[in-house]
Amino acid sequence: MQVPDIIIAIDGYSSTGKSSFAKIIANEFSFLYLDSGALYRGATLFAIEEGFISDDCTIDVAGLDKALQSLDIHFESDGAHIGDRCIEKEIRSLAVAEKVSPIATVPEVRNFVDKKLREFGRMKRIVMDGRDIGTTVFPDAELKIFMTADTDIRAERRAAEMRAKGEEADIETVKKNLLERDYIDSHRETSPLSKAEDAIVLDNSHMTMEDQMEWIKGIIAERFGC
Ligand code: C5P
Repeated sequence: MQVPDIIIAIDGYSSTGKSSFAKIIANEFSFLYLDSGALYRGATLFAIEEGFISDDCTIDVAGLDKALQSLDIHFESDGAHIGDRCIEKEIRSLAVAEKVSPIATVPEVRNFVDKKLREFGRMKRIVMDGRDIGTTVFPDAELKIFMTADTDIRAERRAAEMRAKGEEADIETVKKNLLERDYIDSHRETSPLSKAEDAIVLDNSHMTMEDQMEWIKGIIAERFGC
């Protein structure tokens, strides 16, 4: 399938399989995949390690904002990096998951991440997943998808993913974290998670990845005539 040079923005609730879907889309259409959540997770890991967020999630916003100005966070072939250090494993931990949504409410953090994301956007042929890609980061994206799925199914998928990586995953703890993140993400003041008016909803509760690929190919064929 010859897909034109477009930006595909994928937003939606936590653990709806946005990044797995985006990676397969990127592979199939030779697009660049960008995981915006990894930048929020990286900023959160940095904030935890440098003491800008306390156990009760009090954030030293001024200190964090200043420190972020010289933070070298970027992607390499093995995933997200801070300087030379690959942080892929640490940013997927529950410790980071528990603090990332509070950190992502901070406008200074969002500005920092948005700036990085928009630099990539100049290239086109990208697929980016997150919470505000179609609404704030790339409001002009040519194709916007909003993903959702049943909460229990999401929790099971996420727990299975964690177990496969050798991490402990209690289903109720995982579910609680998903719901808390969805709540904070949807209710924050700056760029809350919401469906862009022109986004197409994909509920993949009972869909395989093959089903989802067939679905998106149908939409692309119809919309772009390819
Ligand atoms: O996508 P992922 O689950 O890795 O994102 C982690 C968290 O980062 C989300 O729960 C949300 O708080 C934040 N995030 C965001 N805006 C984005 C991407 C992620 O606020 N575009």
